[in-house]
Amino acid sequence: MKDINIALVAHDGRKQELLQWVKFNYKMLTTYKLYATGTTGKLISDLVIEEEGRLTKPFKGKVTRLLSGPLGGDQQIGAMIAEGRINMLVFFCDNLIVQGHQNDVSALTRLAALYNIAFATNRTTADMLLTSTLIDDPDYSIQLPGCIDSYVNRALE
Ligand code: PGA
Repeated sequence: MKDINIALVAHDGRKQELLQWVKFNYKMLTTYKLYATGTTGKLISDLVIEEEGRLTKPFKGKVTRLLSGPLGGDQQIGAMIAEGRINMLVFFCDNLIVQGHQNDVSALTRLAALYNIAFATNRTTADMLLTSTLIDDPDYSIQLPGCIDSYVNRALE
């Protein structure tokens, strides 16, 4: 099985929606390495699942918590994407309000698009990405767009 690193971020207005998604997909998600911004990560770690009448916390100690988004967590995830360390980003942005750290939000979504990673901003897309057979296909790898190469090797006078 390939190592799959998934980053999870949700703004306050959509944290419950992300938790519902995590709950729905918890069996699959526990097989991957999870990273999350601070508060999102704490909520996922504390998530209680009922399985066959038993209450468990399947993500306790299994999510790497970064800084809270407004304190630099979004930027930490952006840096990991640029370093090729994140395969998939699930980022539930609150589209009804402007965030104090809106610049960080834009920077993160920009890098997710630039580095061509699997990137979901809503539950339906996140479900489809997670259940894609490509996620685990050893012959499939993320292709970096040519613009990155030409930028790395650009000649400056
Ligand atoms: P949080 O950050 O998980 O620490 O709330 C999310 C964000 O606003 O980017």
